[in-house]
Amino acid sequence: MAGIALGVRREGHFLVAAGLDIGLADLLAHPERPITDEVKLQRWLEERAHGAPLAYLSHRQDFFGRTFFIDERVLIPRPETELLVEEAILLAQPRWRGDFTIADIGTGSGCIAITLALELPHVRLWATDLSASALEVARRNAFDYAVESRITFLEGDLLDPLPGPVDLLVANLPYVSSAWLAGEPSIAFEPRQALDGGEDGADLLRRLLLLLPSYLRSSGSALLEIGEEQSFLAGWAQEHLGGTVTVIPDLAGKPRLIRLRT
Ligand code: GLN
Repeated sequence: MAGIALGVRREGHFLVAAGLDIGLADLLAHPERPITDEVKLQRWLEERAHGAPLAYLSHRQDFFGRTFFIDERVLIPRPETELLVEEAILLAQPRWRGDFTIADIGTGSGCIAITLALELPHVRLWATDLSASALEVARRNAFDYAVESRITFLEGDLLDPLPGPVDLLVANLPYVSSAWLAGEPSIAFEPRQALDGGEDGADLLRRLLLLLPSYLRSSGSALLEIGEEQSFLAGWAQEHLGGTVTVIPDLAGKPRLIRLRT
């Protein structure tokens, strides 16, 4: 699912509001407001008709009640990833101590790390990504929400850039299988690197799980977003890493997260 299909009328409103750089509510309250850039709007409508996701045209996507800047350099935040944030907050809140540290691996737009920084004002965060251009988007969002001093953005592969172990590690890594991705036009606009998880979708998750033990502090936890097909990783992780491994379903009852406690 790339971007969110809102229905034609609603999408039209959304694009007009984005073009005027105002909120949707503002537009609906003042429908008489003149459209200032008809050429841009026309171009957006044409690109939308060719399948470009709404978020890449408007450069906006809501996540956990806030709007983030989005473009082709990053994966479009999905509503299902809000579950990862909710669970991360539940894990972090009761365990407050001065140096509670969270790592967000494969941060993309930064929406997870930035939301956690805003919801958990006492924590410090590391956010990594293999893509330098994705990190530019993440930094911009962190700056917009004034949390840039609490998140250290680091370029590199998985856990490599982390300076040391953390209390909580979260990741929404690519987990779509290469074969499925090849036949899915709706996500053709998004960076392949952010979605392609190899033959069974689990390549990066498996690599990350094997690295985990040396990057989690004692009584640390990890929360990894998965698709239904990767739920087998829970048993695999239990066998290889020990600790307590749990699969957490989303609202539709599908496996959506793997939680691992040391
Ligand atoms: N949930 C996304 C999708 O179904 C996949 C995101 C990911 O690979 N991390 O399109």
